[in-house]
Amino acid sequence: MNDKNFAGNSKSAVDFLGNEWKFDCMGCAISKGEIKIPGGIIYEGKYTILGADPEIPIPGFLIVNIKRHVNSFSELNKEERNEVGDVIVYAEKALKELKIVREVTLVQEERSKHFHIWIFPNYIWMTEKFGKGIKYLRDVSEYAQKNASESDVKEVLNVVESIRKYFEKRNINE
Ligand SMILES: [Zn+2]
Repeated sequence: MNDKNFAGNSKSAVDFLGNEWKFDCMGCAISKGEIKIPGGIIYEGKYTILGADPEIPIPGFLIVNIKRHVNSFSELNKEERNEVGDVIVYAEKALKELKIVREVTLVQEERSKHFHIWIFPNYIWMTEKFGKGIKYLRDVSEYAQKNASESDVKEVLNVVESIRKYFEKRNINE
């Protein structure tokens, strides 16, 4: 995984189920449904899509993708940023209430040309293996990509399913 790919700026990707996708912009392709996110969409709002990270198989690693092609919080209108906030709140609640993970890290990089936010779950194995803090997110991601077993992938998909059910039972705009 090179640095360009890590920001989501490459023109192709192989997801963790082994499907290869080609696109001009990954965020736009997800918005248009041209890429099928592994496990499917967890939540689709008017302005956002929530799903698992397509390339990195870690249970509860979620991406909030904005539908419009912009790359900064400063370009979002009020409705968009309200929805982004609501989606993050409920995604974090789901991860915690479903006891998937107790702590997350949020990342939004403007060097990525299409706005998306990482909701990165912090597991004990990550701290034990790499140490604590955002410095290690890349190492953890690479490790998960290289070492995920079939049952790890299954677990990622199960978590997607349980978070989708969590969202289905709630009106996140309340
Ligand atoms: Zn885009």
